[in-house]
Amino acid sequence: MSAYVITPPPIVSIPTSDGGQFPVRRIFCVGRNYAAHAREMGHDPDREAPFFFCKPADSLVVGGADMPYPSMTQDLHHEMELVVGRSSGGVDIAEADAMSHVWGYAAGLDMTRRDIQAEAKKAGRPWDMAKGFDHSAPIGVMVPKSALPDPGKGLIELKVNGQVRQTSDLSFLIWSIPETIAYLSRLVRLEAGDLIFTGTPEGVAAAGRGDVLEGVVAGVGVVKTTLV
Ligand code: MN
Repeated sequence: MSAYVITPPPIVSIPTSDGGQFPVRRIFCVGRNYAAHAREMGHDPDREAPFFFCKPADSLVVGGADMPYPSMTQDLHHEMELVVGRSSGGVDIAEADAMSHVWGYAAGLDMTRRDIQAEAKKAGRPWDMAKGFDHSAPIGVMVPKSALPDPGKGLIELKVNGQVRQTSDLSFLIWSIPETIAYLSRLVRLEAGDLIFTGTPEGVAAAGRGDVLEGVVAGVGVVKTTLV
């Protein structure tokens, strides 16, 4: 093979609770996957198939590092989410087989430039610059799937400066994790290292410089970042 003409990018990875690193390939995110959040955004939660958007792998913020407040927004929102990490790939994965492709879980934040997203929605334009900007995906340590034997229930909560902003339960996911994996694997071939941000419950709101965001998913752990 001939030589690379520029330096190839490093592999992005997330520390795991057993002392390893989970290498990240792609980041898929589910939109409107909790009914109460769909309602707060002005949508009917009962009639929609799941839909997806992506963030670049290098938008992850790991290790509790600070998140720089992004450019071009006056309305940066937090979205607290359970993140699924895949151990293997596949296409047309059956719901019954979906969990066999999961390596583990992490707590994550799908940070969103809500004002840019609102403009994009109005104009029928893509969400990429609202969702996939630099440092838009703070994430905690990844734990093996054995840490969460039943990903269909458990507290998911976000505090900002110690005050609860989002609190819900994984049982309120509209599309369960196996259903989400099965559906997404019909749209694209999933691969080992892919992450899926599974959607946020209600209570999304703006955060500003100096705010400390600390989220937890019961059994999985925390995600923590300070906006600077
Ligand atoms: Mn989200």
